[in-house]
Amino acid sequence: MSCGEDHNVDCSEILERVYVFIDNELEDATTDEIRQHLEECAPCLDQYDIERCVKKLVHRSCGDEHAPDALRQRILLRLTEIRIETSTTTIISTD
Ligand SMILES: [Zn+2]
Ligand SMILES: [Zn+2]
Repeated sequence: MSCGEDHNVDCSEILERVYVFIDNELEDATTDEIRQHLEECAPCLDQYDIERCVKKLVHRSCGDEHAPDALRQRILLRLTEIRIETSTTTIISTD
């Protein structure tokens, strides 16, 4: 996936690391890199928000970040539905 813009770090690389970023398990330098990328790259930010929402919802539902896969899938599905409903004004890049 790419938004067509020229970034220091490739989008695919950011999306690979974003899970670790959410868990705050990255070194500061890398965290800055990702944060900067998310600020200038809407598609990646979008992806990041979804993951963050899932984590938050899972945490609230279970009080435990290690939720059952089924619950996580259900929340993800729901978030995707919400996204489709609200993304009519979003420009989706085709690669
Ligand atoms: Zn990106
Ligand atoms: Zn981008």
